[in-house]
Formats: sequence, structure tokens, C-alpha cells
Amino acid sequence: GDFPIETDTLVLGAGPGGYVAAIRAAQLGQKVTIVEKGNLGGVCLNVGCIPSKALISAGHRYETALHSESLGIKAENVTVDFTKVQEWKSSVVNKLTSGVEGLLKGNKVEIVRGEGYFVDANTIRVMDDNSAQTYKFKNAIIATGSRPIEIPTFKYTNRVINSTGALSLPEIPKKLVIIGGGVIGVELGTAYANFGTEVTILEGSEELFAGAFEKQMTSIVQRNLKKKGAEIVTKALAKGVVEKEDGVVVTYEAKGEEVTIEADYVLVTVGRRPNTDEMGLEQVGVQMTDRGVINIDNQCRTNIPNIYAIGDIVPGPQLAHKASYEGKIAAEAISGHNAQIDYLGIPAVVFSDPELATVGYTEKQAKDEGIAVVVAKFPFAANGRALALDSTDGFVKLVTRKEDGLVIGAQIAGPSASDMIAELGLAIEAGMTAEDLALTIHAHPTLGEITMEAAEVALGSPIHII
Ligand code: FAD
Repeated sequence: GDFPIETDTLVLGAGPGGYVAAIRAAQLGQKVTIVEKGNLGGVCLNVGCIPSKALISAGHRYETALHSESLGIKAENVTVDFTKVQEWKSSVVNKLTSGVEGLLKGNKVEIVRGEGYFVDANTIRVMDDNSAQTYKFKNAIIATGSRPIEIPTFKYTNRVINSTGALSLPEIPKKLVIIGGGVIGVELGTAYANFGTEVTILEGSEELFAGAFEKQMTSIVQRNLKKKGAEIVTKALAKGVVEKEDGVVVTYEAKGEEVTIEADYVLVTVGRRPNTDEMGLEQVGVQMTDRGVINIDNQCRTNIPNIYAIGDIVPGPQLAHKASYEGKIAAEAISGHNAQIDYLGIPAVVFSDPELATVGYTEKQAKDEGIAVVVAKFPFAANGRALALDSTDGFVKLVTRKEDGLVIGAQIAGPSASDMIAELGLAIEAGMTAEDLALTIHAHPTLGEITMEAAEVALGSPIHII
């Protein structure tokens, strides 16, 4: 046996949940140890949010270089050096992950490399290739994230890939089949379609995102993907894959017929499973669902009072900002603060063409809960900046409570929806009404004006729409 090292708070996993929790706990005066078996930054920084957005913006640059003829711009011989694209993507990732290391060190968080395994409710064993060390902790925060689900008929190989593989392909595929039209499938499909790949998305349900976004939003994304040459097959059942030397043959069933399709790669994005197995959690008695999701209270505490869980391993959307938010709550709760989770203001974004974003209630959710609402919409086609950007697809939709105009939700499909949703999240958090938004002077000409205009629609007196 080794001599155990004692710490106040032990954080397992250094993704956007864990590293944020560690920093906040250290800021609040705790001695903090963070254990990471892979790279600092977790999925998000290394193989998720950041590299996918880098590829998406590179794809956009290429696509707009090719298709700006309506603005009088004609480019010839535009080429992509995909190795350079990948190098640039990696440089973005490296800047951020080394930034995380600097932040942890600057906050005096001890960084331990290795795989953690719970021995009991106050003890963890960390193993790396050639050593093992035991840590004793007062409190632990589990932030071990998730991994792509593998379906038995599509075992991962060099050609049957998951999101991680799709982010580091050696070349732009000529043809790519994507199984699963969820957020990750659509984002990566959009990136490659912009690079010129013939993309086919096989989605099991009736529409992309399996109904998670309103039809009016989803259909704009679907239409634009088709414009880029992508094929979207809904109600499709992927059956199997045969691998060839230089590609794959995928079989699926749609409309009662079996279809085969050849491609260079098949990308499987059918969901992510929480990393809660093989870490000793059963022997400590941490309760979870049969899918491995850990149940928590409103301070991110598991059924074991000194063990907390955050991020992709707990219920709710698998989003980086949700993980970070929960990380702060858990660290503050451990430090004796009265922090509590409130999920209403957590936005969700798809980096598609155009972007989709939602925060708070949708119209349907409000109606399902019996809340009487006034719903107001304003189209980007009537926004000067959107026209000047040649980017007029989409709209803003405000959901306000009928009795008092309180903003309780918003959805945006359109240019920069990912950034614009922040104002509406703030409106919800601050308890603002449609009148507050309408009275806020927005600079002209900006995309953000559309929020003010939608609020004026809610109040019944819009200026720029009849
Ligand atoms: P993770 O980021 O998964 O980190 C967990 C860490 O724990 C990992 O580093 C892992 O190595 C480590 N670990 C696991 N087990 C152990 C162990 N036993 N011992 C030691 N270490 C361990 N979300 C967004 O909000 N916006 C986006 O645009 C977005 N894009 C995405 C794109 C892709 C392609 C993917 C795959 C995901 C994307 N996500 C996005 C989701 C986002 O990445 C996750 O929600 C987020 O990373 C979850 O954070 P986490 O801290 O819970 O876990």
C-alpha cells in the first residue's frame, strides 16, 4: 500500500464540468485535486464543441468563397488544404487546453494524471501506466462525461467512425453517410457538405433532431442542407455495413424498401452514454438509472451526501455550459453556499445553416403546462443587417406570459442565433417583460434589433412589419 494523499475536494474528470468545478472550489478556499485520464478540457475542448466549430467555420469560409456570386464576387480555383485545416483546428484546441492547465495551476488546483476508481465514499485510487496512488477526500465531484454509443451492427473501425473520428479525417470524403440526424450529425454533416462532400443523413424519426426543435426551425435547416446537395432520409432504419478496402456499403430500410449506399465513411451519431461504469460507483452505492445516468438533488448531490455529480452523467441536455453551470453549483454547495440549480435559462444551440437556438419555454411546452402565452415572431427577411449580410433565412420567436408579458422563452433560427440567444437568456434570468425588451434601444443596423422588434410584435405595435 501507498500512503494516501489527503485533499478537501476531489474532482474526477477535467471537462467543462470538472475543471470549472475545481477552479470554483479552489476560489472558495478548498484544497482541490483534479484527476484526468485523458486531456484537460474533456470532450468539449478536445473532440467536441471546439474542434467541431473550427471545422464548421472553415467549411463556411470555403462555401462562401465559392458562392458569393449574388454579391458580384466570383472566385476561381478555390482549394482546400485539409491537412492545414486540421492543423489550424488543432492549434485552436491546444491554445484552449493549455489555457485550462494554466487556470488550474493559477488557482492552485493539483492536477493528477490517471484513471480514478472509487474504493469507498472517501477514497479513490488513481492508476496510470506504471503507478497507483490513493487519495482521501472530504467531498468528490464526479464529472466523467460521456462517450459515443456503439451499435452492434456498426462497430467502430477506420471507416465506421464516431464524432471523434469525423473531426480528424485525413481527407475530405467524397461521400459520407451519417446515421443519426441529431445535433452532432447535423453539425458535422453541414461542415462536410460545405467542403463539398456528398452527405446522406439517415434519421430514424420523422425529422432532424427527432422533434427537439420546432418544425418551422428544423425545416429551414433541412432545406439548406438539401441546397448544399445533402440527402436526408427520414424514418430510415440503418441495418448494417460492409467494409471495403476504400470505403463502406451501408444498408438501410426506408419506406418498406431495403437500400444500399456506398460511401467513403459512415459516421454513427446516435447518442452518448454516460461514463459511470467501471469506476467503482456501484460498490460505493451511488444510485443511477439502468442507462447509467446518476440522479442528483438540486445542489448536484448524489444519494451519497459527500459525492456530487455534474455534466453529461446527470439528467438533462448533454451540453458543455450545463456541465460548467452545475460545476459551479456543486463547488458552491460543498463550500456551504445555498446555490441551487435552475435550468430554465440554459440555452441550447445547433451550429447548423442557419443556426438554431432556444432558451426557456417553447410555445408547446408552455401550453402543455397550462401557461397562457402571447407568442410573437419577427423574420430576419425584414431586418436590414440580415439583408446586408445576404443571410435572411429564419426568425425570432418570443414566448411571453399573457398575464404580465414576462419573457419565459425564445427560439431563434437564423444568422448568429447562437450569440443572439444570450440576450433572451438574460431577459429570462432578469425577469424582464416584452416591454423591457421593446424599450431597450438596439443599435442599427444589427441582427439584435430583431429581438426588440419581436417584443414590439408581442405588444401589438411593431414598426417594421404589418
Ligand atoms: P467531458 O467533457 O466528457 O469530460 C469528462 C472527462 O472525464 C474526460 O476528459 C475523461 O477523460 C475524464 N474521465 C472519465 N472517466 C475518468 C476516470 N475514471 N478517471 C479520470 N478521468 C476520467 N456541447 C455544447 O454545449 N456546445 C457544443 O457546441 C457542443 N458540441 C459538441 C460536438 C461534439 C462532436 C460532441 C461529441 C459534443 C459536443 N457538445 C457540445 C457536448 C459537450 O462536449 C459535452 O456536453 C461536455 O463535454 C460535457 O462535459 P463534462 O465535463 O460532463 O464531460
